[in-house]
Amino acid sequence: MIGMGKIARDQHVPALAQNGAFELVAVASPHQRLEGVPNFASIEALLEAVKDVDAVALCTPPQLRYSLARLALENGLHVLLEKPPGKTLNEVAALVDLAEQKGVALFAAWHSREAAAVEPAHSWLEARKVSSVTVTWKEDVRVWHPGQSWIWKAGGLGVFDPGINALSILTRILPGTLVLKDAELAFPSNCETPIAASLRLDNELGTEVRMELDFLQTGPPSWDIDIETDAERLLLSKGGSVMQIGDAAPVENPDNEYPNLYAGFERLVRDRSIDVDVTPFRLVADAFMCARRTVAEPFVE
Ligand code: NAP
Repeated sequence: MIGMGKIARDQHVPALAQNGAFELVAVASPHQRLEGVPNFASIEALLEAVKDVDAVALCTPPQLRYSLARLALENGLHVLLEKPPGKTLNEVAALVDLAEQKGVALFAAWHSREAAAVEPAHSWLEARKVSSVTVTWKEDVRVWHPGQSWIWKAGGLGVFDPGINALSILTRILPGTLVLKDAELAFPSNCETPIAASLRLDNELGTEVRMELDFLQTGPPSWDIDIETDAERLLLSKGGSVMQIGDAAPVENPDNEYPNLYAGFERLVRDRSIDVDVTPFRLVADAFMCARRTVAEPFVE
C-alpha cells in the first residue's frame, strides 16, 4: 500500500483484510505508519527491502500517481490506481502502454461505480429513453477533506475530486456518449483548483445533463443524480447507494465499494489484464480546458 492517508486507512486496509487473495505485506508513506506491517518512507525503500511484493495500491494524491505507478510497473508489479488515475490523460495513456509491455495488471479504480445501486440503475436505464439528468454533488470540504492541501494545488482537481465520482457513475449508467457543452468553474483567489462548478453536457440520444458541484455546502452532503425518463423518474442518492424509481420506496443496500474493487483487481491480476476507463477523467479535463472561469472568495480552512 503506497500512501497511508484517509482512504487507505478507511477503506483499502479493511477491504484487503477481507480478501483472502491478497496479503498486505508493507506500507510506504512519508509520515504515516500502519501497525502490524513493515513501514517505509518511500516506495523505493519498500521495493529495496521487501522482495515478495506482487502488487501495489497507489493511494496518494493524484499529482504523485504517475511516477509511483511507473516505478511499480517497471518493477513488474500489478498496479491499482486510486481515482483519479493520474494528473493528466497522457500520463494514464503512458501507464497503459507500460503495463501492456510488462504484461501486468493495471486497474483505474472508480469506487463510486461499485456503489450498490449503480448496476441496478444501469440495467433499468438500458430499456428507457433518458430525457434529462440533474446531478447535485455538494459537500463541505472542511468536513470531508480536512487538511488535504493537495486538493487546492494544480492537478488536485478541487471540487472535481468528489465530482469525478458523479461522472464515473453517469458514464456507467447512461446510454450514449456524453460530451461537454458548457462549463463555469469558480476558483478561490488563493487556490489553483475550483471550489464550485456548473456543467452542462449532452449526448447523441438527446439526453441533457446539468451538474452542480460545490465544496461549501454545510450540513449533510448532497450526492444525488435525478434522472427523467420516458417511464418513471429514477433517483440515485447517497453517492449511488440508494435507488428510487417513481413513487416506490427507496432501495438501499450495504456499502461494498472497496471489497468489490479488490475483487475486480484480483480478477485483473489473475488474467494480467488492464481495466483503465478514462471517460470520467476526460470529461473533467474538458471542463478544465473549456470552462469560463470566475474568481471566488479566498478559501481558508
Ligand atoms: P490523504 O488523506 O491526503 O492521504 C494521502 C497520503 O498520501 C498521505 O497520507 C501521504 O502520506 C501520502 N503520500 C504523499 N506523498 C507520498 C509519496 N511520495 N509516497 C507515498 N505516500 C505519499 O488523501 P486521501 O483522502 O486518502 O486521498 C488519496 C487519494 O484517494 C486521492 O486521489 C483521492 O481522490 C482518493 N480518494 C479519497 C477518498 C476520501 O474519501 N478521502 C475517497 C476515494 C478516493 P503521509 O501522511 O505519510 O505523508
